[in-house]
Amino acid sequence: MTTQSPWPENTVARYLTVGGATVDITHDTRYVGDTQPNVSHAQCNGCPAYTHSGWAAHAGRWDNGSAGADSAACAWAQSHAETCRAMPKPA
Ligand SMILES: [Zn+2]
Repeated sequence: MTTQSPWPENTVARYLTVGGATVDITHDTRYVGDTQPNVSHAQCNGCPAYTHSGWAAHAGRWDNGSAGADSAACAWAQSHAETCRAMPKPA
């Protein structure tokens, strides 16, 4: 069910854990008042583990800086997915 479930809006990557859950990488805002995405957020859906990677600002624009944060979040997701055995709760 997890691999077939729809990707939430803003999801840029998804990893399947050994426990059968997913780790989703999304673009998110760091603070409630932020109007543009400025962090890459990785969240495991099987356990509470997550990480944030802040984007680098380039010429005052946050949206040019996501590449490094995405690869950091994806690297975390990859290594978490390899070891996380928590199973997703049935819906
Ligand atoms: Zn996990």
